[in-house]
Amino acid sequence: MTISPLADTDRRSLFHPFTSIQQHLEEGPLIITGADGIRIVDDQGKSYIDAMAGLWCVNVGYGRSELIDAMTEQAKKLPYYHSFASSSNEPAIELAERLLAIAPGSPARVFFANSGSEANDTQIKIVRYYNNALGRPLKKKILSRHGAFHGVTLGATSLSGLKPMHDVFDLPLPGFLHLSAPHHYRIAPDGATEEQFSDLLGTELEELIDREGGDTIAAMIAEPVMGAGGVIVPPKGYFERIAPILEAHDILLIVDEVICGFGRLGTAFGSHHFDLKPDLVSIAKGLTSGYIPMSGCIVSEKVWEVLRDDSAERGPFSHGYTYSAHPIAAAVAVANLEIMRSESLFGRAAENGGYLQERLRSVVGSHPLVGEVRGIGLMAGMELVADRETREAFDAPLLVGKRLSMIMQREGLISRAMRDTLAFSPPLIVERDDLDEILSIVSRSLDELAGALEAEGLWSPR
Ligand code: PLP
Repeated sequence: MTISPLADTDRRSLFHPFTSIQQHLEEGPLIITGADGIRIVDDQGKSYIDAMAGLWCVNVGYGRSELIDAMTEQAKKLPYYHSFASSSNEPAIELAERLLAIAPGSPARVFFANSGSEANDTQIKIVRYYNNALGRPLKKKILSRHGAFHGVTLGATSLSGLKPMHDVFDLPLPGFLHLSAPHHYRIAPDGATEEQFSDLLGTELEELIDREGGDTIAAMIAEPVMGAGGVIVPPKGYFERIAPILEAHDILLIVDEVICGFGRLGTAFGSHHFDLKPDLVSIAKGLTSGYIPMSGCIVSEKVWEVLRDDSAERGPFSHGYTYSAHPIAAAVAVANLEIMRSESLFGRAAENGGYLQERLRSVVGSHPLVGEVRGIGLMAGMELVADRETREAFDAPLLVGKRLSMIMQREGLISRAMRDTLAFSPPLIVERDDLDEILSIVSRSLDELAGALEAEGLWSPR
């Protein structure tokens, strides 16, 4: 197969994240050259519906002149200034104020960074600082869940619960402990209801705290709905069971809203959907709809008061990035939040998300390859199985999820295969017609995959 000169140059020059090097050298890259609304275009002129909003981030859709104007106007006025040593800038101040007005719990301050990973690393440091300030030097361990994705810095990778991210990098670091994923379909005992499974997960948490000692555990981090782990919606009653246990042991709750924040679940934050009152909130992605890197940590009153009271003695908070509170990023975020407000995008996500969830279940939920459809709002996952009855998974080397995503890509739809779960997370501006088109491509791609697997003797409908 011949490839374009640009693709060839890519193969010879670019080191791609989360990409098989060998496969890329044989098959890559997909070069995207333009985008508008919910669609992207490649260098061959082929158009796709981007049902992943990039990497779960382009919430207001592509090509929004409001964001481009905010970017250029801010660049002309003040392209950069730092926020160290009490320096500030207008858009960052406005953005922090707007975020506090919509954030869950009792938010007090916003600390800005550039990526979700940096935000979560910052949370680890805030948690350590908090307990040092309180004179609790042993209270430092952080709990997370298997299947979680919290980013890729050394700290954030340690928070994450995905094995391939750990083994080859000698992670996690000490002091990071992982509980079971709240994955009812895959790991609940046979016959257990969602509520019973939640109860078991609560007991697992209690036992871990007993074992380790509550005075050694500082915090637990959780995505409201796990994204990269396979769109895992917690079972009914999960957070209601977990949150009081954390509170009883004075363990902070860090909610990672990097995907769920800014409307993805049909509410401003995922915490609102589950009625969570986080002590710390991580935000990124939808904060700027991915137009420019920016992330943040929203710090609650409870944590803020400790940091503030400690500062007279300790001096400056010795952490921050050259680009923390970057004025151009902040201006884009403000314009982005304004679009979300003026176009009622959270409400639209709730309505169209309800439609997506209902239609996915009714159109493909009973397909012989589909074990489960799950999700909330405009975040959905479809898990492929070899046997619906026994929930038997396909052998990993068959790469069945990847095969389906490649068929859909050929048909003009971008989704994301996480092992054999396909994720859908379109821009919040998606319309019902678009959702119908997405569903129709998913449906016929499933049929095509089923036919191919059968023809190759790899599977038969059961
Ligand atoms: N947290 C969650 C829930 C994420 O999904 C991601 C990225 O996908 C991150 C954190 C890390 O964000 P970033 O890639 O911006 O570092």
